[in-house]
Amino acid sequence: MERVVLAEPRGFCAGVEKAIKALAWMVRVFEPPVFCYHEIVHNQLVVDQFRALGVVFVDDVAAVPPGSPLMLSAHGTAPEVLEEARRRGGVVVDAVCPLVTKVHHEVEVRTRKGFTILYIGHAGHEEAIGTMAVAPAAVRLIETEEDLDALGDLDDAPVALLAQTTLSHDEWQGLMEEAKRRFPDLWLPGRNDLCFATTNRQAALKAIAGKCDAIVVIGSANSSNTVALEKVARASGCDRVVRINRPEELPDDLVGTVGVTAGASAPEAVVSAVVARLAPTNGTDVVSVTTEHEYFPPPPELRVLLRALATALAVTTAAPTGSVLDPVGEDRGTSAARLLADVAPAA
Ligand code: SF4
Repeated sequence: MERVVLAEPRGFCAGVEKAIKALAWMVRVFEPPVFCYHEIVHNQLVVDQFRALGVVFVDDVAAVPPGSPLMLSAHGTAPEVLEEARRRGGVVVDAVCPLVTKVHHEVEVRTRKGFTILYIGHAGHEEAIGTMAVAPAAVRLIETEEDLDALGDLDDAPVALLAQTTLSHDEWQGLMEEAKRRFPDLWLPGRNDLCFATTNRQAALKAIAGKCDAIVVIGSANSSNTVALEKVARASGCDRVVRINRPEELPDDLVGTVGVTAGASAPEAVVSAVVARLAPTNGTDVVSVTTEHEYFPPPPELRVLLRALATALAVTTAAPTGSVLDPVGEDRGTSAARLLADVAPAA
């Protein structure tokens, strides 16, 4: 094939950076096993790397031995699961993305004000499950127009519309417009719930799609924002769209110009390996629609833990003031890829 066009932004977002770094810190601090409720992020390679380090992923906190360190994934956790996790007595660190927390908060506030909440999301996705569990009696899941048809009479309650953060813009737009038509007084958040990372990756993909004979989307099948990228690529009219986890999965008949993007939980090292395998005869272009500067600091429980450890280290080693690293400060200047590489051999 002749040329690769890379979409930018692509790959790790600020929420994924935060979650991966937090789990890498846990692996540094605690003897294995460290437990993690749900996959820390929806990427098979990242999860496999942590498994190799002794992280045990569970779908039920009851499987975590009392007193064991436990991390909760980036997708957000149902309140009763969080409560049960804390009851088990070990250190619990919640790596939820702040943008998911914002939607949980919107659910709480609207419920207190008596709203029925229509939540556009994907049934069975961990983010949707965690968000709906904030107020199960008030939230109705909407995936299709048929779900809007099935709502029936809402007893004149005010109606609000919220969404999973990682939907494709088109999925949100169509259902939002239909909901507005049916409920003229519909309450909507000032800005929709689709996160900046999802929106930016989709915009970058749209910017390259018209130039490409094929598009490669890197990411896992259970990653909602990756699947959204696949949908955007197909909607762009591109003849050939393939989603892969790793370079070995690339088909060998791609020709012409190949666009490459990556979901928000796909490592940049995989992107580089994919481009190397494509080996374009006329080189690689990068098309950038924006630069992301967002940084989400480590979860509060982890900040407290890391600062306490740094202080204890300073006291026990009688180190001079300022000579012991500030791990929380260090987090900002370190990428997830770097921290993960420090603790984990590549899978
Ligand atoms: S994709 Fe968006 S909501 Fe999900 S972790 Fe990244 S920034 Fe947060």
